Amino acid sequence: MQRYVTWTLSAGCLVGTLLLFLFFPDSLRSWWGTTFQGGIVRGLPHLPVLLLAIATFWGSHARQDKVTLLALLLIGTHVLLSFPFPDGLNSEALRQGLAVFLPWAFPLLMIWPEASLKSPWGWGRLGATLCIGVGALLWASNHDLYSFCAVHLATIPGGVKSLSPLLALITLWVLSATEGPGMGLSWTGSLISLGLASLQGETLWPTSVANAPWPVFLSFSTLFLLGGLYGVTWRRAYLDELTGIPARRAFEESLPRLGRKYAIAMVDVDHFKGFNDRYGHQIGDQVLRFIATRLKRLPFGQAFRYGGEEFAIIMPGRRVHQSLSMLEDLRKSIETSNFTIRGENRPVEKPKHKDRPSGGTEQVKITVSIGIAGRSPLHPSTDDVVRAADEALYHAKETGRNRVEHNGRRKGQEGVAKRMNCVVQYSGP
Ligand code: GH3
Ligand code: MG
Ligand code: MG
Repeated sequence: MQRYVTWTLSAGCLVGTLLLFLFFPDSLRSWWGTTFQGGIVRGLPHLPVLLLAIATFWGSHARQDKVTLLALLLIGTHVLLSFPFPDGLNSEALRQGLAVFLPWAFPLLMIWPEASLKSPWGWGRLGATLCIGVGALLWASNHDLYSFCAVHLATIPGGVKSLSPLLALITLWVLSATEGPGMGLSWTGSLISLGLASLQGETLWPTSVANAPWPVFLSFSTLFLLGGLYGVTWRRAYLDELTGIPARRAFEESLPRLGRKYAIAMVDVDHFKGFNDRYGHQIGDQVLRFIATRLKRLPFGQAFRYGGEEFAIIMPGRRVHQSLSMLEDLRKSIETSNFTIRGENRPVEKPKHKDRPSGGTEQVKITVSIGIAGRSPLHPSTDDVVRAADEALYHAKETGRNRVEHNGRRKGQEGVAKRMNCVVQYSGP
């Protein structure tokens, strides 16, 4: 949910800014001129530097080398763009060079594997990238890119001169679709590419950067970058790395927010130690991921990895009897979907008959035991309910595993949940 809100807001901001530039370029420019450069808030054009400094610090603190590198690169760009060059220097061509080459830094950074910067190989690549960048800028400062592009691309109508930022933008979005959102790099890159493309004003090249709202673009972009960083640290704190579902911390923080009516279930994989011993930890991890995908698809309730091979499900607004059939379906679906273990010598081709696994493939039945409890006068606090659900789980284990038990059920008593025959398929080595 949170992710959709963030994405929608980000998309809204991007589209809004884009529309502003498309429909009101002159009024936006004059607004920028009177508001920011008319002396009211003289320092604001340098706001991007402050934001970028925060991104640099936070990026290196959170070990996000791509972000650190990008923030440093953008600080350098900002300084270059606003630096009062002496007359002799071809500063305009330098700016054109930035408009052409900078947007390509984003797709390049996206395909750069994270955390490789601090290795000798990483430093080497960084040095090579810087050399190429500086070379490109030097080349650009000695050439008029406009006429260069005009000569080579004159037949393409319209925004010929925005071609480089726009192409970089497309590459970036193709990459972000295939490589994941990439830490807000795609949003940052999009804004900066668009900014550079539109900075070019009537001539489409940055001839009047001093009057153009470059700092607005840079500030917005850096905010996206900071948002991406926040996302990464949030995911690290609240999501379980192995399974991708919310972790114990998220579970603990959800408890105080529960209302007066709720149920909590604890799910534990049966005989998992033996499974690990037989098939190895890596296959064991696959089993945990497999169970997590089932838990993500529950029709209601939120699943968490409680720890080890134990999961918790919080079902707000539900009583125990309203949740039992869903848990029973979950248990059954895990039991019936055979988990396939592929050996090293498995065939490249799929076996023709599904029920006849061949060479190196083994079907194993995984089962889970589930204990559930709800809030009641006997269990008024969340701690009591968790403890009661744990006791019910213990009871499910005691009475044969692969079953759903709820607290309050006594041995020999038929509860609301359907009793299962004890069909533990994997019962240790
Ligand atoms: P029971 O049916 O009574 O629950 O038996 P069990 O073997 O599942 O329970 P036990 O508590 O004895 O063992 C839990 C095992 O879960 C031990 C540990 O090796 C394994 N485990 C915990 N966390 C992980 C993990 O992240 N990955 C893998 N592969 N195994 C894990
Ligand atoms: Mg277990
Ligand atoms: Mg356990």
